[in-house]
Amino acid sequence: MTSEKLALHGGAKTIDKPFKRYNPIGKDEVEAAKAVVESGVLSKFLGCWDEDFYGGPKVQEFERECEKYFGVKHAVTVNSWTSGLVAAVGAIGIEPGDEIIVSPWTMCASATAILHWNAIPVFADIERDTFNLDPKSVEANITPYTKAIMAIDIFGHSCDIDALMEIAKRHDLKVITDTAQAPGTFNKGRVTGTLSHVGGYSLNYHKHIHTGEGGILVTNDDVIFERLQLIRNHAEAVVKDKGVQNLSNMIGHNFRLGEIECAIGLSQLKKLKGFVESRQAAAERLAAGLKELKGLRTPVIKDGVTHAYYMFPMVLDCDILGVARNQIFNALEAEGVTGLAVGYANVHLLPLYQKKIAYGSKGFPWSSDICKREVNYAKGICPVAEELHERSYLGYEMCLNELENNDIDLIIAAFKKVWANLDTLK
Ligand SMILES: *Cc1c(COP(=O)(O)O)cnc(C)c1O
Repeated sequence: MTSEKLALHGGAKTIDKPFKRYNPIGKDEVEAAKAVVESGVLSKFLGCWDEDFYGGPKVQEFERECEKYFGVKHAVTVNSWTSGLVAAVGAIGIEPGDEIIVSPWTMCASATAILHWNAIPVFADIERDTFNLDPKSVEANITPYTKAIMAIDIFGHSCDIDALMEIAKRHDLKVITDTAQAPGTFNKGRVTGTLSHVGGYSLNYHKHIHTGEGGILVTNDDVIFERLQLIRNHAEAVVKDKGVQNLSNMIGHNFRLGEIECAIGLSQLKKLKGFVESRQAAAERLAAGLKELKGLRTPVIKDGVTHAYYMFPMVLDCDILGVARNQIFNALEAEGVTGLAVGYANVHLLPLYQKKIAYGSKGFPWSSDICKREVNYAKGICPVAEELHERSYLGYEMCLNELENNDIDLIIAAFKKVWANLDTLK
């Protein structure tokens, strides 16, 4: 092994053919979609107070099945999880200028959903072990204007929801959870994503289960449930006839998911447990194979939490390794390991926040008097997230491929080869 030359230096590649792409869609989904197409009813929503306000048969069947599956009082389907996040922020009654604390280590939509209601995202730092919001940093970022916390269950590992709910209770805040990457996982036996005031899951094509595009909102709160459905489907045209008194944020959208997607979703839901378990088995094999490599931290899993491994997150100790992360990445990529990512997101560093230009060109909402203080997005506000992104985080996107044992063993072999040749990378 040690004598083998790295592919980066002209040696043979460890992995010479691409792995099979992850594809959870099978015969059941084909049949389900076909039946809907043949019925001629591809959607049945009406944007007025009518029995079709709640959508057609597959929408409603899928929602009732999601309620059972996730163990919640209410589920609402939407045409993307991005739409779901927007609906959630509106539904909890956020006012323009209210602050919502969010993680910078997430997909951009978690934060922009806040801006879409002219509320102000405030970024708190993350925990180095799970990459989720650090409750201590959340607490330190609370101001008199804070109204909610948006917590992400990033990469497939539940956030510290008990600590966040406790902070929320003490400060009278609402909590929204974004569980796009962790469906079908548990935190102390409870279903991840259902422990906040409102949460939900993405159904886009690179998540564990998918319907092409789509999302599922979950809540145990009857008021939030009604408001989610109104925002989903042209609220302003419905409130009068439905007798809705609270008009705040009743600016509706068309966030409706179609009958075909919901029929596919019904099949997908039945397979979620199996998909998560096979991802876990693959990740455990990978972690066991990489465990002995010095200066590499395999995923940390907190007590009582199950991981869905949307991503297989690793942290490198470059001082121990004596080699920069990007050099190791280049060497692994040359060995044929695809799907590696150096760094993840530092959402606060996007131009949107750095230049504070969102609605129009004049800095709205930050420049207007709805924003009650100068909010800081400068580099340095989230030191843990920034250090991981710049220097030490290395992710493996487990969501991309259907990994056989042999594939995992090849990945392990590639890592071992690079580690055996670290000297040549210095
Ligand atoms: C995928 C994802 C979203 C957005 O979901 P869409 O269904 O693609 O709109 C939001 N947050 C996180 C953490 C995600 O991974």
